[in-house]
Parts: sequence; C-alpha cells; structure tokens
Amino acid sequence: MPDVRTSLIDSFGRHVSYLRVSVTDRCDFRCVYCMAEDMTFLPRKDLLSLEELDRVCTAFVGKGVRKLRLTGGEPLVRKGIMTLVESLGRHLRSGALEELTLTTNGSQLAIYAGDLAAHGVRRINVSVDTLDEAKFRQITRWGDLAKVKEGIRAAQQAGLHVKINAVALKGVNDAEIPEMIRWVHGQGMDLTLIETMPLGDIDGDRTDQYLPLSVLRANLMDRFTLEHIPYKTGGPARYSLVKETGGRLGYITPMTHNFCESCNRVRLTCTGTLYMCLGQEDAADLRAPLRASEGNDLLNAAIDEAISRKPKGHDFVIDRRRDKPAVARHMSVTGG
Ligand code: SAM
Ligand code: SF4
Repeated sequence: MPDVRTSLIDSFGRHVSYLRVSVTDRCDFRCVYCMAEDMTFLPRKDLLSLEELDRVCTAFVGKGVRKLRLTGGEPLVRKGIMTLVESLGRHLRSGALEELTLTTNGSQLAIYAGDLAAHGVRRINVSVDTLDEAKFRQITRWGDLAKVKEGIRAAQQAGLHVKINAVALKGVNDAEIPEMIRWVHGQGMDLTLIETMPLGDIDGDRTDQYLPLSVLRANLMDRFTLEHIPYKTGGPARYSLVKETGGRLGYITPMTHNFCESCNRVRLTCTGTLYMCLGQEDAADLRAPLRASEGNDLLNAAIDEAISRKPKGHDFVIDRRRDKPAVARHMSVTGG
C-alpha cells in the first residue's frame, strides 16, 4: 500500500529525515567530558516505555524520517532494548526506513552484536577515545577497554560495519591520534574525531579539554596525506581519505565549523521531550500527547508544531569567562 507521507520541513526549508533517540539517560561508564561521577538519573517512571518509544519512532517514520539512531546514555543498558530494535526492524523490511543504527560505548556489544545484525542493523558507531587501557579507565572512569575491543570484534564478526568515534581531548589523547588512525583503519573501520561541546555540568573544566580539530588536522598533515572526499553518512561529519592507510577520517566540528544550515535531525529524550537542536533549550513535550489518547492525531500535531519551531542553529562557545555550560543538560540526556 503506498503510504502518504507528510514531509517534515522546518521554517528554514530544511527537511528533517533523521531522528536520534536517547533510550535511557543511564550508563555503565562515566566519561569525564560527558558526566559527573556522581550523577542523578531520572526516575524510571518518567521514562517512555519501549512500546511508547516504538510509537513515537513509528510516527516519525510515517512522516518521512528515513534514519533512526538509538543512543543515550548507553542504549545497550536499557532493559529489553532488543525488543525495541526488533520491532523497529519492521520499518526496514517495509522499506519505510533506510537505516536503523546505534551509538554505543561497546561494553555490552559482545552480548548483543548478533541480535542487532539479525534485526536489520547494518552499521554502528562505537566510542573509543584511546587505545591505552589505563587512559581509557581514566577517561571513562568505569570502562574496560579489553571488553570494548571484544565487543567490536563480535560486531565485525556479526557483519556490522563499525565506525569509531573519538572525542579529541587536549593533552589526553591528541598525541595518540596517529596511532588510533592506524589501528582503526587497520581493522577495516572508519574513525571520526569530535570536538568537545559545552553540554551539562561535569566535574572538571572544559576549556582545559577543548581542542579545535583544525589544529589537530594541521598536525596530522605532517604525518599523513589527507585528501578531502565528498563521502557522507547522513551526519555532519566531513571526511578525508588517509592515503597511507586507505581509510576514512571524519571530523565533527560543531565549535569551529557550524553545520546548522544543513541540519536534518531532531532528538528525542527517553522521557519523550523533543529537542529540535542539540545546542538550544527550546523543546516540545511529546509524552503528554502520546499518553492522552490511543490514536496518534495529537502526537502527529505536536510533532508538526515542534518542527515548525526548529531554530536556525546553536550558539556554542567554550569560553573561560563563562563558568556555566552553554546548555545545562548533559549529552547523555539529549543523546549524542
Ligand atoms: N554511550 C554511548 C557512547 O558513548 O557512544 C552513546 C551516548 S554518548 C552521549 C554519544 C557520543 O557523545 C559519544 O561518542 C561521546 O563521546 C559523545 N559526547 C559525550 N559528551 C560530549 C561532549 N560534551 N562533547 C562532545 N561529545 C560528547
Ligand atoms: Fe556513557 Fe557515552 Fe556519556 Fe561515556 S559518552 S558517559 S559512555 S553516555
């Protein structure tokens, strides 16, 4: 049956085709740039159930969203998460959805890689900021690199295409990036570098960690031949081909290069709040219209209204004179 789609187009003419869903704000790591060690998480009763998450995602797919990314917090620590992945897989089979994917810290991947592949997931992003076990423990506070590597191997064996994401941290992993490029590309994976963003209170000072990727890239060019390529994965990363390894290196540069003009995404939190921009406070509550009736009329109207309010862009600045993050909520709430 041909399905009649209402495209989600915002007031700046941008087509919203990508929904990122934070399925939990909880995590089994406490990365220094993402969370404070002692975090207060949301009461479980405030979370959307897996069925409700499915309903909202399905409403977005009905409106033309072609790509869904599950994230968090750590998506694989949400109880029963494979039920959601399995049920969303039906939209891949029907052709309504092009891609179902997730961003994970990899700690539970060895357990779930096979199921993810079986339910139609083809590509995943795994966050790894260093290949040094002690440093990995320092950055993640609670993580175990050996377990994450085991998860990555399991994912590759299950046929998943893995991309590694690394946040560039000044004085922490910058010197190690060439080694990471060689390792990641050597395993047949892509590597994307991300600038730290001022999201949520953490225990340390972000200005100490912030490293503009323009600086890092200039340093890398002493060692590698980087050729800009037009490769795109639907996200904001720009890519280079590293001639020496034959692999791709991506850069996500929200701070030094503003990519808002081509933004195609919105983000749903695990409590049903829709953020139209990662870097702005404005949001729409979808949980109330979702729970107000069994039909989707109220939910659909709330989604349309929210998209019409999608702001032009963010105004992140990392500045020593500001002692507060630009946005109070943590990345683990909105979903990275
Ligand atoms: N737990 C999963 C993981 O770590 O991949 C998914 C959620 S995590 C919030 C998603 C991505 O956001 C990770 O790659 C993480 O490194 C990144 N991230 C977290 N806080 C950030 C910040 N303040 N600035 C830039 N990236 C951040
Ligand atoms: Fe957890 Fe991911 Fe945040 Fe690290 S970056 S604390 S793994 S949510």
